[in-house]
Amino acid sequence: MDNCIFCKIANGEIPSNKVYEDEKVLAFRDIKPVAPVHILVVPKKHYASIMDIAGEEMDITAHVSTVIQRIAKEEGIAADGFRVVINCGKNGGQEVDHLHYHILAGRNLTWPPG
Ligand code: 5GP
Ligand code: ZN
Repeated sequence: MDNCIFCKIANGEIPSNKVYEDEKVLAFRDIKPVAPVHILVVPKKHYASIMDIAGEEMDITAHVSTVIQRIAKEEGIAADGFRVVINCGKNGGQEVDHLHYHILAGRNLTWPPG
């Protein structure tokens, strides 16, 4: 998508601090981390939000889960635990309209979120 910052990061037009990449997804460190570990996992294909994935394309969500498991092991956060967040829409606090999964770890995360 034109003018989508995460499309530009996914295609290498804008640099990022890359954590993992394959043909379908890119994971990179958040520019404004809110926890000691704050990684974003994005499908390379542009989906505006989780509401934008068609039923027949839903296997991308399973693939992202596999990637999250791998990153959790590699980052050494699996044992202590972590949080995966998808913000969706205005009330969800979504600021970038390209589907992304936040992986947050490295401190005790409070619940409920603000
Ligand atoms: P949202 O609020 O949409 O769920 O989260 C967007 C996230 O993207 C925020 O945590 C923000 O810090 C991060 N972000 C926005 N622009 C950039 C960027 O250019 N590079 C990186 N690495 N992260 C970004
Ligand atoms: Zn995009």
